[in-house]
Amino acid sequence: MTALRARTWYDATGIAPPDTTKITSITRGDYDVAIIGAGLAGLVSALTLAQGGARVIVLETDRIGSGASGRNGGFCSAGWAAGTEQITQLVGPHVAKTLDALAQHGVAWMRTRMEQSRYAACDLVQGELILDLNGATMDAAEQDRHIAQDELRQMLSARRYKSGVYTPSAFHFHPLNFMRLLAQDALNAGATIVETAPVTRIDNTKHGFDITVAGSPTQIKARNVITATGGYMGHETPFSRKHFLPIRTYIGVTDPMPEILDEHIRCHWAIADTRRAGNYYRRLPDGRLLWGMAITAFGTLDTTRIRAMILHDIKAMYPIMVAQMQSAQIGIDFAWAGNMAYARHYMPIVGAIGQNHYSLAGFGGHGMNTAPAAARALAAHILGDHDALQAFQTIPRPRVFGRLGAFAAEATYRYMRVRDALSERLS
Ligand SMILES: Cc1cc2nc3c(=O)[nH]c(=O)nc-3n(C[C@H](O)[C@H](O)[C@H](O)COP(=O)(O)OP(=O)(O)OC[C@H]3O[C@@H](n4cnc5c(N)ncnc54)[C@H](O)[C@@H]3O)c2cc1C
Repeated sequence: MTALRARTWYDATGIAPPDTTKITSITRGDYDVAIIGAGLAGLVSALTLAQGGARVIVLETDRIGSGASGRNGGFCSAGWAAGTEQITQLVGPHVAKTLDALAQHGVAWMRTRMEQSRYAACDLVQGELILDLNGATMDAAEQDRHIAQDELRQMLSARRYKSGVYTPSAFHFHPLNFMRLLAQDALNAGATIVETAPVTRIDNTKHGFDITVAGSPTQIKARNVITATGGYMGHETPFSRKHFLPIRTYIGVTDPMPEILDEHIRCHWAIADTRRAGNYYRRLPDGRLLWGMAITAFGTLDTTRIRAMILHDIKAMYPIMVAQMQSAQIGIDFAWAGNMAYARHYMPIVGAIGQNHYSLAGFGGHGMNTAPAAARALAAHILGDHDALQAFQTIPRPRVFGRLGAFAAEATYRYMRVRDALSERLS
């Protein structure tokens, strides 16, 4: 089994998935909106549209949340995959401010949902710590949440971090459980969800769209289509292939080791560092450590290679902890990969790509707040609020140029790693 389909810690600890419709029981239907992809973007738009009275069907190649949305780091914080400066250059200060507010609303929307007792299985833990390795100065807004090195060392045994910034509004959670609960809400609101239903063709006809699903003799009819295929796009979604690169990234989860973690990582917040090509980690409720790192634009590393790479990366920060793990025969129990969709400017493309055909993708490595924010805006637009998409309409749509773009992405990542290492050495 490839790392992209490898069993994750989330699969092992997930709640039961909701019952969805079987492909054989679909009638031709006459849907207002067909959504391709049951990731966070697809399901939030399905929920919002169904709550607004639309007849909605979601078609998913695999299972609910089996793409990036159910196998990610589980961090939810403000901002987009692109930085504030980058966004301002792209769309100007006014729209950048609107996008910033939308991203914050995305965090609030996720938190408010998870604060409901029905979502208890998401194990939300409030707080995020961003660590600096270079002694960089932080802007004024961050100063009151600044954590100096002395205080940091009470929380983390790693010696390389110079300081940190604490963000109380960010949090971490169990993303697969969230997806399953969200799917149940969408079903309760009247949406139809079909799993193991790979869409192979989307034909535009006089009356709307005819959608072909592999292995099914019936075509699904819908007046609108949303393509929410994330980094798993195929030939059936040519727009996505032209505008997004599928970029792969990796996660490992250790065997349980609560005592070792109590000694080295006493903080239960979500933890990440400021390097562009850095890593992120968090303690899990069953005494394990989740560690995320690296990207590749070509191929997939196998799970043995991911395990070795993750352990090597943890050791670079926590050498004593890894020595203790090795003497206690504690290793990386789960290792997996996931795909993210990246446009050249790291921002999503949300809006019409043809008559009644919409793109809802490109959230990169920062989708847990941005995908719901964008999905809600797109659903509002389809339901008749034509101002809802204004901020997204100003985002350009550059092409990624297939393998050439992938080479550029891989080269940029390697360059960033070298730059990160040099700036840490020079600081
Ligand atoms: C390992 C990893 C760690 C990450 N960590 C974080 C994090 O901690 N915090 C954060 O904010 N973001 C994180 N991200 C990014 C975040 O997960 C994504 O931005 C977000 O999940 C994207 O959601 P989506 O709905 O666009 O895509 P996805 O969740 O990938 O959903 C797309 C779905 O479309 C389906 N699909 C594709 N083609 C078809 C077709 N033809 N027919 C039917 N279905 C189809 C796929 O099977 C998939 O289920 C991470 C990503 C990865 C991979």
